Amino acid sequence: MDDTHAKILVVENEARVMQSVKELLELHDYQVQLAADSREAIRQLKRDPFDLVLLDAEQPSHRSHCVLDFIDAGKLPIAAVVLNDPIFSDVAVDALKRGADDVLPMPYAPEQLIRSVGNAIRKQRFERDDAAVRERLLESEKLHRYLVERSPDLIYMLDSEGRFTFINSRVESLLGFRKSELLGMHYSTLVYGPDEELSQYVLHERRTGRRASHNVEMRLKRRDGGTHPQAGTRYLTVEINSTGVYSPTDADAPTRFRGTYGLMRDISERKEAEAISAYQASHDLLTRLPNRFLFKDRLSLAISQARRNPTTFAVMFLDLDNFKTINDTLGHLIGDQLLQSVGTRVFGCLREGDTLARAGGDEFMLLLPQAGRIDDAAEIARKILDALRNPFMVESRELFVTVSIGIALYPEHGVNADALIRRADVAMYAAKAQGRDAYALYDESMSADVSEHVTLENDMREALRSDQFQVFYQPQINIDSGEVIGLEALVRWRHPRRALLTPDEFIPVAEDSGLILSIDEWVLREACREMSHWRAESVLPVRVSVNLSARQFEQPNLAATIAGVLHEFGLPSGALEIEITEEMVMKNSEETARRLRELGRHGITAAIDDFGTGYASLSYLRRLPINTLKLDYAFVHDIHTSSTGTSIAAAIVSMAESLDLTLIAEGVETEVQMDYLRSIGCHIMQGFMLSPPLPADAAREFVEKKVKGR
Ligand code: C2E
Ligand code: CA
Ligand code: CA
Repeated sequence: MDDTHAKILVVENEARVMQSVKELLELHDYQVQLAADSREAIRQLKRDPFDLVLLDAEQPSHRSHCVLDFIDAGKLPIAAVVLNDPIFSDVAVDALKRGADDVLPMPYAPEQLIRSVGNAIRKQRFERDDAAVRERLLESEKLHRYLVERSPDLIYMLDSEGRFTFINSRVESLLGFRKSELLGMHYSTLVYGPDEELSQYVLHERRTGRRASHNVEMRLKRRDGGTHPQAGTRYLTVEINSTGVYSPTDADAPTRFRGTYGLMRDISERKEAEAISAYQASHDLLTRLPNRFLFKDRLSLAISQARRNPTTFAVMFLDLDNFKTINDTLGHLIGDQLLQSVGTRVFGCLREGDTLARAGGDEFMLLLPQAGRIDDAAEIARKILDALRNPFMVESRELFVTVSIGIALYPEHGVNADALIRRADVAMYAAKAQGRDAYALYDESMSADVSEHVTLENDMREALRSDQFQVFYQPQINIDSGEVIGLEALVRWRHPRRALLTPDEFIPVAEDSGLILSIDEWVLREACREMSHWRAESVLPVRVSVNLSARQFEQPNLAATIAGVLHEFGLPSGALEIEITEEMVMKNSEETARRLRELGRHGITAAIDDFGTGYASLSYLRRLPINTLKLDYAFVHDIHTSSTGTSIAAAIVSMAESLDLTLIAEGVETEVQMDYLRSIGCHIMQGFMLSPPLPADAAREFVEKKVKGR
């Protein structure tokens, strides 16, 4: 802070002294004005701004203190230095009391006067600036407080133990809690039970910046939720953004975690609207039963579960026998009511976990996960036929309907949703042909599509000949560094008359027929060919992993064959990893270990796919030459829904750590899953959230962009 160009008022009645002081001050670049007495001084002070008053205490009027009092009373930001004959020491004390910054003896020493004036001005300017800063802070704090309190969002701070140190008033209208009762309470006071686990890593957020929790959905308790039925639901859905708060840092002192800061937005209305439209998209509005889409979805889920954990189950197709007549003669209104009643009655025959859907018109579909054997399915079919035999009362009319039921079993009659539904439908026609009011089990002789299998097989042979297969590549990413650590090769089939087919739709048939050997080999060669191009064009080399079917893995000379392909395309053995499922590993453990060791001798590493489903033991894994575990996507999927899923994932992470294996989480679809996985120490991920499987060109672009982006 400097004192140059400061403006000084000199109050002096002796012209000689006045003149010499003026010259001295001007020599030091001060601007000087003069006043002969106190009254004149006050007049000037009222008119012009000054930085300092230099005041001779000995004025004839003896009223020098008037000037000091004037400055003090107006709280003017003006410094004061008093000149005084040393004899009158009580005057000096008095002047200091009245706010003078310094008192100098007369006659003054020039250097001392200049020093004293300079100091007083600097001090004054410092105080003035300081006061201005403080005032601005106060203003802005008021403003911030106002904004925070008026915010439509909940704004809060937690201490390092997770207790509220701040929450804005919005909590009172949104949740019915008073601010005062929450301060000092743990955040779990507000968390709706089922979301407690989720809250642990959202609200206990230690990260800051872009990596902190972002737009996570969670439910909060309402204070009166349980007791006031008219208060609506017990919880409120909010979207949370939270970030860690650290104490301000010295350059080298370690930062200290102070707690979290966050914002929660009420998204209940949006959720409700979403729920309603999701309901409408997935349900039949007349009977309130799931529609065809939801049914297919549930069926696909049952199939993937059954594939992992082999079970059998039944699918049924129901068609009312004489509905059309009733509808045509008695009208839609009665027809609609009848359909509703039929739905209710059939539903009454089911057990928990079964799915009844309305497929459209007078058709219903059933998924019976617990009816694994023909006898179970037949028994339920009979029960339904019986239940419909009693007449229905609709608008005081007695109506009779019967139904024909077709049954197909998984996996005997089909391994994908479409095939199972189609075959249950075929069986239903057979039941109609038997005279209606009956059920029939699918049988190959029933339909023309027995040959479907054969057709697919023939198409596949043609596909191999005419290059209809294509390899897609899905990146595996270290989400901490952003680095693409590998690509998984996944086969696709550009079927000339159908959509792009995914492996689920043709690999089972390929395995049955043995064509899988040719497909796997084709994929291996194609992936290696592509990688050798990338290297030639100096795209950063990434490892590619290729899935091997059980039959391929059991081929004699497997290691030599793979090594031969690598050699042919000029690739080092580290450029390839093979993936075999945990199920394959467990099936024939001694033989598997021998094969893996042989591959290892050629420098080819292996990953265990779908890990976590097959109960491979730690001690067994320790003896296998493997490089990577792939956490099965079922566990990743479970992160949202159950706590067993999450704890299994955590157990597998620590297992991989103790074995010093790379762990890749598969099927990561959401930020919540990503955050959770990272929080338990899993950093390499693969899934739609990061990238879906991509055609070669797009995969290459993806890799190049990642490399540049770093
Ligand atoms: P996989 O080895 O477990 O492959 C991962 C599968 O998960 C891929 O399905 C991939 O598209 C899918 N996926 C990736 N990210 C996500 C996600 O975030 N969410 C969900 N729901 N799924 C995701 P795809 O390509 O349909 O392959 C299915 C299975 O077919 C593979 O399962 C693998 O076992 C087999 N397969 C694929 N290509 C080949 C091959 O060339 N040879 C053999 N023998 N089997 C293959
Ligand atoms: Ca795989
Ligand atoms: Ca997998």
